[in-house]
Amino acid sequence: MAAIKSVVCTLTDCPLTNAAVFATRRVASRQYLLVRIQCDDGHEGIGAAYCGDRGGELAFAAVEHILARTLIGQDTYAVEALWQEMYQESLLQGRAGAAVRALSALDIALWDHNAKAAGLPLWKYLGAFFRGSVPAYASGGYYYGAEEPKNLAKEMQGYLAAGFTAVKMKVGRAGLSEDRARVAAAREAVGPDVLLMMDANNTWRDVPTALRFLKAVEPYNPFWIEEPFGPDDIDNHARLARQTSIPIASGEIEVGRWRFREWVRHEAAQILQPDVFACGGITEWRRIVAFLASSGVPVCTHAWHDFHAPLIASAPNGMFVEVFTDDRIVNLQWLIDEPLEIRDGRLILSTRPGLGFGFDEAAVSRFARIPWREMR
Ligand SMILES: [Mg+2]
Repeated sequence: MAAIKSVVCTLTDCPLTNAAVFATRRVASRQYLLVRIQCDDGHEGIGAAYCGDRGGELAFAAVEHILARTLIGQDTYAVEALWQEMYQESLLQGRAGAAVRALSALDIALWDHNAKAAGLPLWKYLGAFFRGSVPAYASGGYYYGAEEPKNLAKEMQGYLAAGFTAVKMKVGRAGLSEDRARVAAAREAVGPDVLLMMDANNTWRDVPTALRFLKAVEPYNPFWIEEPFGPDDIDNHARLARQTSIPIASGEIEVGRWRFREWVRHEAAQILQPDVFACGGITEWRRIVAFLASSGVPVCTHAWHDFHAPLIASAPNGMFVEVFTDDRIVNLQWLIDEPLEIRDGRLILSTRPGLGFGFDEAAVSRFARIPWREMR
């Protein structure tokens, strides 16, 4: 047994050098909730969750007012029981969104602690499927405004030069002909064999509009279309899936095994993308991914590759970890002391116990919106 002595929590706000622009939003800053769980065996677990560009205080409040008290004095190895208690305690405020993101951060910290105490890297502690490294794809292709699609082509070629064989770009913000020209330019830049994914970030409202776009880009052989509709519009995803040859991917803001079951039941996506910060932490991520394995559905993760690499490493149906190499888009790596190495389009798994990294304290205090607060 390792009893939890205290939960320590901070909210950071990391402004992006350039706003990230995609179909439905313009993100100028990223807020991350960071947690530490300190135990009487001398080990500490860390966890995190992305909280969008504002309102991370909601997740912080969920830790402070609801979740921390369920953990203090408890045994870190009772992960399933603690997950259930946190979920039940936050039922009225939670089930999706800020409270589940806070729960996710704490659950990640429990697993980090337990792997550290066992002296094992998390990917081994979870039971490795991939060994040493995991497959990754390069994500980017945002709307930069000036000199598109020339800059987009240059960016995509940069990913190839770094050894990636799969790349993703944004679609759905510009008009049909401009977006088609961007997809054409990306395909021309990467050649016929590289996998080219497209992310629409919930842009369309109806099947005919989505279908019109997909027909226009079909000649460029996209590997998937991601989030064509809003996450609650499972029916339209299913209708679209029946009418296009382009596979549908979704699930990055989806929560809980019950919702993932709906995606499978409706045959609404061929690839699902559970995000450990959003879906309920490592405990829930594993349940979701095991269910998807039994349903024949491959899994890719969403962003935050340092956290997701050990998880995909443990999944027989793991396909890719999404990687942002550009910290003008995703900047979580600013807050950690030993970001994973990327080599030949793969993420090299850490040999350090636990997640394999700690927080960079100087960076955390520089970006703190709510400084570290201890709850016991
Ligand atoms: Mg996405």
